[in-house]
Amino acid sequence: MPQYLSVFKDETKLDITYIPGRLPHRDRELRLLMEFFSFILQFPAKMAQRVIIFGDVGTGKTVLSQRFGVDITHEANKLGINLRYVHVNCREYRGSLFLILYHIVSVFHPTFPRRGYSAEELLRILLQILDEENAYVILALDEFESLVERESSEAVYKLTRLQEIRQDKPQRLSLICILRDLKTIEKLDSSTRSTLQSNIISLVKYSKQQLIDILNDRVSLAFKPLTVPEDTISLTAEIAFSEGGNARFGIELLWRAGKYADAEDLDVVTPECVRRAVSSIIPTMRKSDLASLSFHEKLFLLGIARIFKEGQKAYISLTDAEQAYAVVCEEFNMKPHSHTQLWKYLQTLSGVGIVETEVSAAGNRGRLTLIYLSRIPIHELEKELSVLLEKEEV
Ligand code: ADP
Ligand code: MG
Repeated sequence: MPQYLSVFKDETKLDITYIPGRLPHRDRELRLLMEFFSFILQFPAKMAQRVIIFGDVGTGKTVLSQRFGVDITHEANKLGINLRYVHVNCREYRGSLFLILYHIVSVFHPTFPRRGYSAEELLRILLQILDEENAYVILALDEFESLVERESSEAVYKLTRLQEIRQDKPQRLSLICILRDLKTIEKLDSSTRSTLQSNIISLVKYSKQQLIDILNDRVSLAFKPLTVPEDTISLTAEIAFSEGGNARFGIELLWRAGKYADAEDLDVVTPECVRRAVSSIIPTMRKSDLASLSFHEKLFLLGIARIFKEGQKAYISLTDAEQAYAVVCEEFNMKPHSHTQLWKYLQTLSGVGIVETEVSAAGNRGRLTLIYLSRIPIHELEKELSVLLEKEEV
């Protein structure tokens, strides 16, 4: 029997949770983050920092913040400062400030009772614990949209103001808010906004060449030498670029292409493996994209999916979509968002590649925005959205 051969050296390096040692094309942003927080290393108690990181799906927001978290904790510990970096995906906590705070408190006190406290009390308790342990926390609120959507300005206000009114006590809690779109910040009241808005890091979409560099790095960590030819990397980068410069897509595609190579006993990952991987990856990729949509974006998309399901149409108008959305809102007991907002949601949905849009030529009814759904099976879309919405419903 031939020994089981694989093109992989270490598949875990392609995992979404892996934090690489270096981030090609994000050095500048990483340095900027360090600068924003550098005072913490010198005068930890003097002030708390707030930073916003924003950018499209797969631009490296999460990994940038996590890399920074590891680095700054390391630096702080060398200096004898008790600093913790806590990364929270707000969506996983259904946008609930209480659940998020409870999670952070339990980082320090794993057996802390869950019942009997309000979010505000938990925040006071957290600050008290930090005082007792002379500890500082950098809290990264990933998928921040989810928190704002559920708790509005107030949650953010509490997080930023409560410690400011503690007279003469050290500042303990800094924030990194991670989001896809700055519009979320505009929804906050002006004083909360102004406390957040001063330090903004914007991550732009990767170019094809940048994706090639990122993929090359990952290939050398995850694959055996000479198993992934240049052409394969270039094709993968090309596809990830056309999917909105999404590095996550590129990495997942590589992993799947490697799996195809292994299944066929190939000793290199050929471009054909990538092509085969693409057709299988799109539905699963969409799942993670779907999950990161805001609640109303999901409601809107569900409306769209339902029209497509009912009729046999190839495309629908924005007006059709709006009407379907209104019906879905009624079902979920939500107040529908405005036309302008829906138009923005449509931009997001097409930005992530879930729907495609086209503006029809000016006819006698004026220009019309048409919506297509070309890559994703509608039954699957509807099912997935229903599951997600049910989970998020308060
Ligand atoms: P976002 O949070 O913006 O959607 P992620 O941070 O999850 O994007 O990045 C998507 C994937 O791409 C992750 O696996 C991440 O490790 C990887 N990645 C993104 N940017 C880089 C980079 N500059 N260098 C190395 N890997 C990266
Ligand atoms: Mg992310």
